[in-house]
Amino acid sequence: MTKHVGVLALQGDTREHLAALRAAGADASTVRRLAELDAVDALVIPGGESTAMSHLLREFDLLEPLRARIAEGLPCYGSCAGMILLATEIADAGVEGRAALPLKGIDMTVRRNAFGRQVDSFEGDIDFEGLDSQVHAVFIRAPWVERVGPDVQVLARAADHIVAVRQGAMLATSFHPEMTGDLRIHKLFVDSL
Ligand code: GLN
Repeated sequence: MTKHVGVLALQGDTREHLAALRAAGADASTVRRLAELDAVDALVIPGGESTAMSHLLREFDLLEPLRARIAEGLPCYGSCAGMILLATEIADAGVEGRAALPLKGIDMTVRRNAFGRQVDSFEGDIDFEGLDSQVHAVFIRAPWVERVGPDVQVLARAADHIVAVRQGAMLATSFHPEMTGDLRIHKLFVDSL
């Protein structure tokens, strides 16, 4: 049966994910309110700004409902800011009151803007576990993963830093596959549902 995948659409590059999910065979629509969250089988949290998304999650009364769905096992794919939000712990989360808030889907510590301190944005071809050729990865003020728990599988690294992980139904990349037209990572997520 075709799965209904939501894209959290409070802020960030929502449209590219909707297109990639549809091309990957899912039924995709935006999520901005609780009834829409309740209706989805899985959720993509896009890139954007994790502090702004956290603020809007609170404003839209979605923060605790989303945390509850994730705790119950809602499959999620987070890209860049989405990866940050899926973490159990965020390093450099931002200033008190306007910080990025962890949704606790993947047992990991993610450092915000980690690559950003070195170079703002860069692209490169990286190996990705389970894919038979390299992925062209676009990093934009990207985070990296500093710690993973025992149940987390590392899928990719860039410059020795972890940039893609999976834990059960949860997937996260610190880069943006929705921007390159390479559907393989969205397919990996959709096919796992
Ligand atoms: N630096 C952003 C953040 O902290 C993430 C950047 C991105 O999603 N491209 O949320």
